[in-house]
Amino acid sequence: MKIAVIGCTHAGTAAVTNMARLYPEADITVYEKNDNISFLSCGIALHVGGVVEHAEQLFYSNPDQLAQLGIQTHMRHEVLAVDTAAKTMEIRNLATGERFRDAYDKLVITTGSWPIIPQMEGIGLENIQLCKNYNHAQAIIEKAKHAETVTVVGAGYIGIELAEAFQMLGKKVILIDNTDRILFKYLDRAFTDPIEKLLADKEIRLALGQSVQAFKGEGGKVQCVVTTAGEYETDMVVLCIGFRPNTELLKGQIDMLPNGAILVDEYMRTSNPDVLAAGDSCAIRYNPTEQPLYIPLATNAVRMGTLAAHNLVQPAIPYRGTQGTSGIKIYDLNIASTGLTEQGALAAGMNVKTITIIDHDKPEFMPHYENVMLKLVYEEEGGRIVGAQVLSRADMTQSINTLSVCIQNRMTTRQLAFVDFFFQPHYNKPWNLLNQAGLQAMEQERKERDGKVLAQ
Ligand SMILES: Cc1cc2nc3c(=O)[nH]c(=O)nc-3n(C[C@H](O)[C@H](O)[C@H](O)COP(=O)(O)OP(=O)(O)OC[C@H]3O[C@@H](n4cnc5c(N)ncnc54)[C@H](O)[C@@H]3O)c2cc1C
Repeated sequence: MKIAVIGCTHAGTAAVTNMARLYPEADITVYEKNDNISFLSCGIALHVGGVVEHAEQLFYSNPDQLAQLGIQTHMRHEVLAVDTAAKTMEIRNLATGERFRDAYDKLVITTGSWPIIPQMEGIGLENIQLCKNYNHAQAIIEKAKHAETVTVVGAGYIGIELAEAFQMLGKKVILIDNTDRILFKYLDRAFTDPIEKLLADKEIRLALGQSVQAFKGEGGKVQCVVTTAGEYETDMVVLCIGFRPNTELLKGQIDMLPNGAILVDEYMRTSNPDVLAAGDSCAIRYNPTEQPLYIPLATNAVRMGTLAAHNLVQPAIPYRGTQGTSGIKIYDLNIASTGLTEQGALAAGMNVKTITIIDHDKPEFMPHYENVMLKLVYEEEGGRIVGAQVLSRADMTQSINTLSVCIQNRMTTRQLAFVDFFFQPHYNKPWNLLNQAGLQAMEQERKERDGKVLAQ
């Protein structure tokens, strides 16, 4: 069996390392257009901020390791075209310019994503940087050395992490977003308000609710960002406004969402039986709405890559989908979320209720305890949990992983109220916060029911 894999970062590395183990007789060939594999972009902000000193620490594999597993890895080779009917590919060696063809029995697409680059005046100016791969990280670090003011466009996870890193490096930082709140996809306003306050206290200038319209500069270098609300002088810009799936190669040959994300079934099979796909190039089943959605995360990429390997020959292990669970640490605040926010659920047309708990992480008789805010979003009818958020100076982020499991298993608030969680004063209270959230949701339901009865 000849297996070809296009792209080798997280989904690709997970796919090939598992395939080498599962199909020792197979001929596995990887084409990767970059000069490195397995770079952990999640470490870029930590590297920029100097927390991770050496970029080499952000790789967990390399072509030599893959070669030892019997995988033929062609670095700096770009796949230019795929013919899924003939099962062939056209490839260019980027070092020599040579073009050649190769054939496959099974193809795994792990071409990932690329940052969205808005087409507008001045976009080609120097010092407007992307933030995706190792080379971008090095360029950002180098350019930042000469920048006094850095503007980050996009206040999602990546933008916020970079804003913090630049501020800690002593830069003046401007953070621009066209929505009126930071992190709006992940958190509701009660959670973003204290984070925005913290950023403002650190003198990060928040320019929210305004869209970038152009970049201006002299001598080819960016000097000013023009938005719908004003102009900001800057020495450098980092664009963090999202990602697009890298799937032009397969357009018209396999089914995709309108944004180009490949549609795969639970076994990572595309609409072509001999083509599987995984990672940022794909849409994925989003459990809160039970619809395919584009959620580019390394966590999904490694799981999907592994599953593509297991399901390559025949369906073996299904993917249970995702809640888009994610976490972030901003200065001393620990934040995590899973599933839908209240705002997101309402926008999706769902009928939801919420419970927000503000409590301490440990009993008050302990010498140290911290405030915790936890919010649960659940369907009004039946109480199915569809989302949760947590924020605390204590690390309560694992509670969101627990709630991710609850969402995946379609648990209700009533079930959550009585889940068996341990109690130990060093860690929590006798009624675990998650039990409390379930209990309060039940109480809210009872009061509303009684209210309705009285009103009749
Ligand atoms: C700054 C930053 C921080 C992040 N932080 C987190 C985090 O904390 N947690 C989290 O879960 N996720 C995080 N992510 C997201 C995560 O990095 C991505 O989800 C992950 O990289 C996806 O892996 P992938 O292998 O599917 O795709 P990609 O990483 O996009 O890799 C695709 C590979 O395919 C290659 N390729 C593409 N086209 C071709 C072609 N035609 N021929 C040959 N090769 C090709 C590319 O060169 C690339 O190496 C972060 C992303 C960024 C940018």
